[in-house]
Amino acid sequence: MPATPAWPPKSAPRLFVPDTLAASATVRLEGNPAHYLARVMRAGPGDIVILCDDATGEWAARVSDVGKRDVVLEVTEQLRPREAVPDLWLAPALLKKDRFDLVLEKATELGIARIQPLVTRRCVADKLNLERARAITTEAAEQCARTALPQLAEPVKLDALLAAWPQERALFFADENGGEPAAAAFAAHSGASAILTGPEGGFDEAERAAIRAHPAARPISLGPRILRGETAAIAALSVWMASAGDW
Ligand code: SAM
Repeated sequence: MPATPAWPPKSAPRLFVPDTLAASATVRLEGNPAHYLARVMRAGPGDIVILCDDATGEWAARVSDVGKRDVVLEVTEQLRPREAVPDLWLAPALLKKDRFDLVLEKATELGIARIQPLVTRRCVADKLNLERARAITTEAAEQCARTALPQLAEPVKLDALLAAWPQERALFFADENGGEPAAAAFAAHSGASAILTGPEGGFDEAERAAIRAHPAARPISLGPRILRGETAAIAALSVWMASAGDW
């Protein structure tokens, strides 16, 4: 008995599009998405592409036309609704570009809901190219077949973050000077959560005291070794996903 071909085809390209998707909708792609489909993936009329809109979920679409500068698709059917995203935010202090890129990519793969970059006194970098960062998180979401994109906020200074912090959201402060073991702290809290990590130079004493003084702050330890900022963010997210997330 010949096996029925997988639907949608495993090789079908996957793209987030700005349009809100619905059955029989027509989607016209230009620029990089069109180039990727037509030139890199060599998609042609009749080929299936998986489209997501970060709102209604994931849809199958059929290529109806490939022009010089655009690709037109007809949406056929919904494949999956938008995923239920675990209510976890990440507030990572900015790091050197390639290391922060890693945080953006891995946090997206791990299922983060919102990334709130932080500027602290010892940050080496103090700016973030938000458009470039959004491209990294979008590509990571497409690669790991998410149907939701993480929210991505402009970087804020630590004192502004603490002043505006929502009281109901636990702020797990990854403190290399010590705190509750992360797994135990996460398992004991099932509500809205966030993880805050520092830069290459760590926090200065005034920053550490300000964070610890915040009513929502819960200092956590990530073990006896001093981790790089990107390692700390990725490790803490993984532990949270395993003990309080959707793993
Ligand atoms: N103060 C560190 C040092 O002495 O080298 C530098 C900071 S560390 C490279 C970057 C950040 O990762 C820290 O600010 C903290 O948020 C987190 N981190 C690293 N190791 C950790 C640990 N064992 N427990 C909790 N957080 C840790």
